[in-house]
Amino acid sequence: MAQIIDGKKISAQIREEIAAEVAQMKAEGTVPGLAVIIVGENPASKVYVRNKGKGCAEVGMYSEIIEMAEETTQAELLSKIDELNARCDIHGILVQLPLPKQIDERAVIAAISPSKDVDAFCAPNIGEMMLGTADFLPCTPAGIMQLLARSGIEVAGKECVVIGRSNIVGKPISQLLLAENGTVTICHSKTKNLAEVTRRADILVVAIGRADFVTGDMVKEGAVVIDVGMNRRADGKLTGDVDYASVEPKASFITPVPGGVGPMTITMLLKNTLTAAKKQK
Ligand code: NAP
Repeated sequence: MAQIIDGKKISAQIREEIAAEVAQMKAEGTVPGLAVIIVGENPASKVYVRNKGKGCAEVGMYSEIIEMAEETTQAELLSKIDELNARCDIHGILVQLPLPKQIDERAVIAAISPSKDVDAFCAPNIGEMMLGTADFLPCTPAGIMQLLARSGIEVAGKECVVIGRSNIVGKPISQLLLAENGTVTICHSKTKNLAEVTRRADILVVAIGRADFVTGDMVKEGAVVIDVGMNRRADGKLTGDVDYASVEPKASFITPVPGGVGPMTITMLLKNTLTAAKKQK
């Protein structure tokens, strides 16, 4: 039977640590501030943005949610980012994705000052991560590394298999596992004999976006299984990319969905905002 990695509990611990540092900064006259821009009416995005605001309040940070209309032009959004780049009370800027189709996502991410890019999505910050010199790490992968570290799971020397190669999860988590001296294999939709590769994994990270895709026969006995997937079933319930019922009995550690990787993402955003405020102070 696997030990469950409790993302809610670990996230709460980290938020307490952040809150203590925020209190210290406030006593010294600086309130870390995060601006979140949302363009349009995407209901899921609205929930994510609201939760980011709540997260800031919980740790004592200032947050500003900037709502822009669906028909906002790229020039208008870039001008808003320029304004926030110049403000001293805003240390982190996040533009909620996806953006309406008239706006070029890459251009928007590139416009955020790298020192305020708390999502760590811009090319300079990705480059720093590759070099091992980053101030900010992308939030979901950074959260996964915290889950491993705080569960006492050693990465060095382990066979790490990542399924998924997106810029926000698969590629960066592969890089972070490598930086911790894991032996990393990255799989994707063109990978042949996927189950043969995944059965080699001591640590298996699954970030595909397909409900219950990884089944018990794809997992080695004793593997650590990290399920990044967040999929909505027809009945509205949230489910991961891992078939928990067949995988859990074989795993040594497993993250549940919900309550595993999910709670860590906003927490790492708060951590990045704190880091940004310290650097800019
Ligand atoms: P994405 O951009 O859609 O990427 C999915 C990746 O999975 C791609 O690299 C794709 O390969 C690969 N893939 C798809 N089908 C496959 C198959 N049959 N076999 C092997 N690989 C396959 O997704 P994402 O943004 O990384 O997100 C992945 C999941 O994580 C989603 O459920 C998302 O909701 C969730 N997520 C959760 C959090 C969180 O906070 N917990 C944060 C971000 C994402 P190709 O590159 O070859 O197409």
